Amino acid sequence: MKKCRLCGKEAKLTEEHIPPKAAFNNVKRKLTRDRDSQDILLGEKTFEEVNGYYKKGQTFKTLCSSCNNFLGTEYVPEYVRLAVNLMYSYKKEGCLPKHNTYYFIEMPLRPLNFLKQVLSMFCSIVNEGFNEQFDFKNYILHKEENGKFSEKYKVGMYGFVGKQGFAGGPVIRINLDKSPPDIICKIEFVPFGFMLVNKEFEFPDGILDLDALKDTEYNREYDILFQFGIYDEVSPLYIGR
Ligand SMILES: [Zn+2]
Repeated sequence: MKKCRLCGKEAKLTEEHIPPKAAFNNVKRKLTRDRDSQDILLGEKTFEEVNGYYKKGQTFKTLCSSCNNFLGTEYVPEYVRLAVNLMYSYKKEGCLPKHNTYYFIEMPLRPLNFLKQVLSMFCSIVNEGFNEQFDFKNYILHKEENGKFSEKYKVGMYGFVGKQGFAGGPVIRINLDKSPPDIICKIEFVPFGFMLVNKEFEFPDGILDLDALKDTEYNREYDILFQFGIYDEVSPLYIGR
C-alpha cells in the first residue's frame, strides 16, 4: 500500500494517463507524439484512428482509484475539450504554428474545472518530496472551492509544438543560490504546455498565468480568450535570463 499523491490516503494506486489519454496522450512510442499530431493535421489520420491504433501513452501510478475517478468525472473533460479545440484550431491553419509566435483561441470552457485538472497532474508527476510541499491538494479535492490556490506556486500555460512530449519534474533551477528550482515541473504535449513555478518567478512574455482562471465558479461555462506564445521547448527560454 502506498500513499496517494492527491488525497494522501494509503491505498492501492492505479495507473492513469498524464496528460489524459484523449488529450493526444495515446501513443505507444515513447515521447514522440508530434508525428501523430502531424498525421492528424495533414488529414492522414483522424483523432479516432490515432486513439484506436495506439495502445498507450505516458502514464503514472501515483493516485488511488477514488481520486482517479473523481478527476476523470469532474475535471478531465474540460482539459480534453481545450486540447481538442486547440488542435482543431491549429489544423485550420494547415500546419502547427511556429515557435516563438503568438496564438489566440476563444472558446467556451469551464475554466475552474480545467485549472484543477492541470493542478492535479502536477501532483501526480513529481516525486514524493516535492508533492508533500504542494499546498493546493485540498483545493483540487473540494471542487466548489475557488480563489487563491497556493501561497507558494503559480501555473503558466503556453502553446507547445515540439517533438518531445514530457511530463515530469523538478525541471530547472535558474537562481543557483536558491535551493528549490524555479520551475518545479512541467507538462509539454502538443498542443500545449504547463509549468508549475515558484510564486516569485516572473513569467516571460508568452506564458499565460492561469491565476486568471481562479475566481471562476466550478462547472460554470465562460467564454475564454486564451492568448499565449508558441514554443517547441520551454526550458531554454529561461537560461541566462
Ligand atoms: Zn487518493
